[in-house]
Amino acid sequence: MKIKKKAIKIAAIVLAIILVVATIVAIVIANDFDRAVRAASKNLTEYSIEANYDENVHTISAKEQVSYLNKTGESLDKICFHLYPQAFREGARIVPYTALTEARCFPNGKNYGSFQITSLIVAGEPKSLTISGEDSDILEVNLPSHLEKNKRIEICINFLLTLPNCTHRLGWFENNVNLGNWYPIACEYEGDGVWDTTPYYATGDPFNSSVANYNVKISAPSGFNIIASGERVSDITKNSMSTATFEGRAIRDFAAVLSTNTTKHTDQVNNTTINYYAAPDDNAASAHLKLACEALFTFNDLFGDYPYHTLNVVTTPFMQGGMEYPNLVMASSLVTGEEEFRKVIIHEIAHQWWYGVVGNDEVNEAWFDEGLSEYSTFLFYEKNPQYGLNLETLIEDAVAGYNLYLEVFNAININVNREMNLPVNNYASEYEYTYMVYVKGAIMFNEISKTIGENAFLNGLKKVYKQYKFSKINAENLAKAFKSSNKVQAILNRYITGQSVYDL
Ligand SMILES: [Zn+2]
Repeated sequence: MKIKKKAIKIAAIVLAIILVVATIVAIVIANDFDRAVRAASKNLTEYSIEANYDENVHTISAKEQVSYLNKTGESLDKICFHLYPQAFREGARIVPYTALTEARCFPNGKNYGSFQITSLIVAGEPKSLTISGEDSDILEVNLPSHLEKNKRIEICINFLLTLPNCTHRLGWFENNVNLGNWYPIACEYEGDGVWDTTPYYATGDPFNSSVANYNVKISAPSGFNIIASGERVSDITKNSMSTATFEGRAIRDFAAVLSTNTTKHTDQVNNTTINYYAAPDDNAASAHLKLACEALFTFNDLFGDYPYHTLNVVTTPFMQGGMEYPNLVMASSLVTGEEEFRKVIIHEIAHQWWYGVVGNDEVNEAWFDEGLSEYSTFLFYEKNPQYGLNLETLIEDAVAGYNLYLEVFNAININVNREMNLPVNNYASEYEYTYMVYVKGAIMFNEISKTIGENAFLNGLKKVYKQYKFSKINAENLAKAFKSSNKVQAILNRYITGQSVYDL
C-alpha cells in the first residue's frame, strides 16, 4: 500500500512538472509567434480608417488617417495614393473588366460607382486636391516641406464612395458587399521621384503595396456580418448599427466583406483561428472549413508558420474564382463544381504566403505569386491524397493544357506571346495571362523541384519565406535562396523569357 501511494505521489509530481513545462513551452511558442509580427510592425506606415456603410444608397463614407513613414531612403516632396475605386466611375477609360467579362461583372446590367474626396488635410492644414495618373486615379499629396527619410507625416483623407452593383472586388450584389481596394493606399516609390501609379487594369491583380499597420472601424446596419482583414478586436451594437474594429499589424492591404446572409464556422490550426463564412443553407460549409484548415496546416508545414491569428475564408459573389487579401480570402459563391471550388480555397490560402506575407510586384512579376500559389495547390493535393488528385497528374494536365493552348493559337496563325513577366496589361487576353502566368508558372516551379530535388526545393521556399517575410521578393533574389541557385536561375530565365522546353 505504502509503495503504491509513493508511486502515485511520484506520478502526480511528474505529471505536474510535465504540465508546467508544457505550459511554459506553449507560452514561449505563442510569444515567438507574436514576436515576428510585433517586430515587423515597428516603424511602418499606419492607416486608421472609420467607415460607415449606408445600405440604402450603397455608400461608404470614411475618414482615413495615414501616418506615412518615409522609408524610401530619399527626401520626398509628395506622396502618391492609388484611388482604385475611380475605375468604377462613369467615364473611366481604364476599367477592371473587359468586353468578355463585363456581363459577369454586372449581372444586373452595367452601372457605375463614384469616388469623391471630401477633404484632404496634410499635417493639420486643409489642402486642395491634385488628381493625376493615367486615368485620374492617383491622388498627389504635395507636402508642405520635404519629408526627410524615416520621418512621418499625418495625412487625413475623407471620402465618399458609392459602390457599383456588381460582382467585382468592389461592389454590392444581393446580400453581400465586397470591399477590396476601396480606400486610398500609398503608391510604392520607385526612386528618383517616380511612383508606381499602375492603374486598375482588367487583367490579373494589378496591385503593388508594402505591409503597413491598420486600425479599421467599420459600421453597418446590424443585420450585416462584418468580416475583414486584421484581427477583430471589438464589436459594438448601438441604435441598430453594428461597429466592428480590426487591427492588422504588418499586413499588405485591408479588405472586408459585409453580408446579411452568412453563418460563421470556426476551427483552429496551431495559433490561427480559421473562420469559414458561408450562406446558412450551405451544406458543404463544414467540409470546406475542414479543407481550409488542411490547407493552412499543409502550408504551415511546407513553407513556415502563418504569422497571424486569424484567417477568414468568405464565400461571396465574385466574378472570378477567388481573391486573396491579408487574413481574408474571397471564394466566389458563383463557382460551379466542387473540385473547382476546392481549388479556389486552396489557391487563395496559398496566396497568404505568396503575395500576403512574402510580397512581390504583382504587376510585373505576377508569375511569382500566381505560379507559386498554383504550384502550392498541386503540392497540397500531393500531401492530401484523400482528395484524389496528385502532383504528377496535375502537372501532366497543366502541360497538356499549355501545349493545347499553343497549338490552337498556332493553328489559327495567332502569334502567342510566351513571356511570363509582361506587365499584366500587356497580355493579349485573360487566356494568355492565365496560361503564361498560372499554368506555365506551376510547370516552371515543378521543373525547379524536379531538377534540384523536392527537399532542396522546399528548403529553398522555407528560406524565401523566412528571409522575405513582410517584405518583397523578385526573380533575382528568388534563385539565390536555393542551394543550386545557378540551376534555378537558368530555369527561371528560360521560362520567363519564353523558351521553356514545353513550348512547341
Ligand atoms: Zn491567384
